Amino acid sequence: MEDVLEPEKKRTRGLGTATKFTSSHPRAPAITTVPQAQGQTTAPKVPKKTGPRCSTAVVTVLKNQKPGPAVPAQKPGTAAPPKLGGKKPSKRPAWDLKGQLCDLNAELKCCRERTQTLDQENQQLRVQLREAQQQATALGAERRTLEGELTRVRAQAEQLEERLGTQEGLVQELQKEQLELQEERRELATRLEEQERRLQASEAALSGSQAEVASLRQEAAAQAALLAERGERLHGLEMERRRLHNQLQELKGNIRVFCRVRPVLPGEPTPPPGFLLFPSGPGGPSDPPTHLSLFRSDERRGTLSGVPAPPTRHDFSFDRVFPPGSGQDEVFEEIAMLVQSALDGYPVCIFAYGQTGSGKTFTMEGGPGGDPQVEGLIPRALRHLFSVAQELSGQGWTYSFVASYVEIYNETVRDLLAPGTRKGQGGECEIRRAGPGSEELTVTNARYIPVSCEKEVEALLHLARQNRAVARTAQNERSSRSHSVFQLQISGEHAGRGLQCGAPLNLVDLAGSERLDPGLALGPGERERLRETQAINSSLSTLGLVIMALSNKESHVPYRNSKLTYLLQNSLGGSAKMLMFVNISPLEENVSESLNSLRFASKVNQCVIGTAQANRK
Ligand code: ADP
Ligand code: MG
Repeated sequence: MEDVLEPEKKRTRGLGTATKFTSSHPRAPAITTVPQAQGQTTAPKVPKKTGPRCSTAVVTVLKNQKPGPAVPAQKPGTAAPPKLGGKKPSKRPAWDLKGQLCDLNAELKCCRERTQTLDQENQQLRVQLREAQQQATALGAERRTLEGELTRVRAQAEQLEERLGTQEGLVQELQKEQLELQEERRELATRLEEQERRLQASEAALSGSQAEVASLRQEAAAQAALLAERGERLHGLEMERRRLHNQLQELKGNIRVFCRVRPVLPGEPTPPPGFLLFPSGPGGPSDPPTHLSLFRSDERRGTLSGVPAPPTRHDFSFDRVFPPGSGQDEVFEEIAMLVQSALDGYPVCIFAYGQTGSGKTFTMEGGPGGDPQVEGLIPRALRHLFSVAQELSGQGWTYSFVASYVEIYNETVRDLLAPGTRKGQGGECEIRRAGPGSEELTVTNARYIPVSCEKEVEALLHLARQNRAVARTAQNERSSRSHSVFQLQISGEHAGRGLQCGAPLNLVDLAGSERLDPGLALGPGERERLRETQAINSSLSTLGLVIMALSNKESHVPYRNSKLTYLLQNSLGGSAKMLMFVNISPLEENVSESLNSLRFASKVNQCVIGTAQANRK
């Protein structure tokens, strides 16, 4: 803008100069200078008000470098004196009026020409002025535009400065962040180095371990091969053990008889000394007793001299005799191997035979109070089976056990495991074949409960006791007048070899073997009792007959003659193992029944080929 304004100032200055130039004009002699002023700038005769215009035009011309056609550039105020013909005209004498007039005319003419020239010049100057004004207007507009633009640019600049400030702040933050990141990076680099070091160490360890693993794998493969070989051998040994075990059991006799004499209970009369004797075997007292001698004094038999006849000695020999002091564990030890035969697939039957009160239930289920010392054969046998099955699982055998417990009273079968409302109801059960053509027998309406631990067995025995207790109130001492049959169906499988075995284990608490006193009057109660007794005697004698028929290898075995033998037919004979406990009361008052029991047991014992021994009387 300064540049735009500058010419104005110059023009103003030029105007001042022109004014001076104009004010000096009147002093110049107008006439004398006219002829010389041709083609030059002269001030005289120019009206005062046009002076500045003329000067302005001159200056403008000078500035624009456009020399005016009639006014050459000349410093104002320094007008040269008019020259005519290059020679100063001589002053006409006063008299030469004509000459003077002529001069004046010439001067006038000159002035007119001059005026004309000045007018033209003036015209030009006006034009130039207009142009200059237009130019000034344009420049003013341009200036305003530029000012507007300047304002906008300034605002923009301010904005940019503001943004710059923000950006600088950001830059500072970023720089700070960068520093932090650099720090972090350094830390990470350190950690990375550490990790790399560790990785290298781990890799080294890993390669070591891999080598170790490879060698261990080799070793494991060798061990596996060895193990497989050993497994094979073990299996062979197990099968051999089973074969030998069975052979041993057979050598011992597939039918064995053990005699157990219970102790005298508190409050019972002490039997006379020597009433029962347990003579040692050929091996001396260290040998387990197998003999029993019973002395019976018969008052009816007298001697001629009137002295009482000496008591008659009755000797019996069994596979094993347990005197009164024998514990439950001792008894079980003798039958543990037999029980194990059931795991090997041989049916096993264990009976307790004897008069009421001789200790059958004690032997089978145990004594009162849940004392582990007096636990009977049933819980001990099951515990043994569970633990052997567990051991055999290591050789690939899997066993399952299903228990049932029934009672046979008066040739009717009743479930002793009936729960809840059915307890003691005596809901009748039937013995049926498990299916058409099947050898397996099952008791309808009876519960078959899978068992796998002692606790479950205990619960079952407890339930059976409860059922018997309820029945006892309904019918006097029915439990001693019925057979209780605990059956455990054992199923074993060796999935790896596709082997299966299964056999029942039967633990039977037989009904009291006592006979009815023939001297008793037969009232209605007694008649019922007589029927009971006949049923019991019949089933017990059937049992004896079945055993005998089996040992004599008779073609017909009278299983069907009693419910008991019918139910147990699959567990008697063939490869089945049978053991009979003959329970004996130590009391002298029971001597008759004891003798009956011992005779029955002896008969059974005689049935056993190879182990039968003659009973001496
Ligand atoms: P059973 O079942 O033959 O009728 P129990 O087993 O009920 O006879 O026995 C009758 C009584 O004798 C019970 O009180 C029982 O506890 C007790 N008893 C039987 N055998 C023994 C024994 N070996 N040791 C101790 N007590 C026995
Ligand atoms: Mg009993």
